[in-house]
Amino acid sequence: MRIDQILQHKRTLSFEVFPPKKSEAETDALFRSIDKLKELRPDFISVTYGAGGSLSRGTAAISGYIKRLGVEPLAHITGGPSTPQDIDALTSELHDLGVENVLCLRGDRPQDYAADYGKHFPHATDLIAHVRKHGFCMGGACYPEGHAECETLYADLANLKKKQEAGASFLISQLFYDNTYYYRLVTEARKIGVTVPILPGIMPLVSAKNIAKIKSMCGSTIPIAFRNMIEIYSSRPAVMREIGLNYAVYQIIDLIAMGAPGIHLYIMNHADTAAEICGRMQHVFRELF
Ligand code: FAD
Repeated sequence: MRIDQILQHKRTLSFEVFPPKKSEAETDALFRSIDKLKELRPDFISVTYGAGGSLSRGTAAISGYIKRLGVEPLAHITGGPSTPQDIDALTSELHDLGVENVLCLRGDRPQDYAADYGKHFPHATDLIAHVRKHGFCMGGACYPEGHAECETLYADLANLKKKQEAGASFLISQLFYDNTYYYRLVTEARKIGVTVPILPGIMPLVSAKNIAKIKSMCGSTIPIAFRNMIEIYSSRPAVMREIGLNYAVYQIIDLIAMGAPGIHLYIMNHADTAAEICGRMQHVFRELF
């Protein structure tokens, strides 16, 4: 089923997974995680493409597995490193697997990216315009604190509107730890005519070593009160994990109270993290989603 259609009649709960970097064993472990995620009754599971060095060729196969389990997959596709022929081959494979939803992205530029990176699809908008003819339900990414390459949030928002005009019918946000940034994004996007649902992305911060990673990966601000708790208890992993899970729950409850159309959880392939969040919020997810 198309995600934009699901969003017309309910809030969505979704999880993001990534194809593992190395071995078959890791891929098997991911399949077992996906089996567990199914039990949490998500509306869809998204699968990244080439992000963080993961194997891009895994995206279609993993999306197909999710579909066969009876859960809706959202396959990410990236235009930056691709030619139109690459995209047509991938979308045709996804189509054959019964995948109806794709998240169109420019992609994370590798550190040593080639001069022709983005030659065919300089921006996600160009990819959306190309993929449109294939009939997928298409989503795009958005950035509550603005995209790192854009000088102002408002220039970034103007580009966001182009994604909708090109054919994106929903958006998923970059992770954030201060909900104010998400509310500002939604308010300002609505003012300039972005009308599609904007799903907030939440990543439970369950380990102190992830702070530096988050800073370098996406630059999300970590509020000082949360940061203090993490740093003070960083040598106590069990305490740290509980703080991170509860903080995510706090963010989710606030987002739902403020009318968010769903929750997208970045779970880094850890089904147990998703299960703990869902366990703490079973009535909220059962009754309000
Ligand atoms: P774009 O929308 O092209 O934006 C990139 C920059 O260009 C922004 O500064 C924007 O303001 C500007 N811009 C956009 N359109 C125009 C235009 N028409 N004219 C001028 N400037 C423009 N990366 C991966 O490699 N694989 C993944 O699977 C993946 N999944 C992601 C999922 C989510 C929900 C998010 C939020 C990010 C994901 N990323 C992934 C990271 C993403 O690829 C990077 O953040 C990348 O730097 C930007 O991608 P984009 O699609 O937002 O690009």
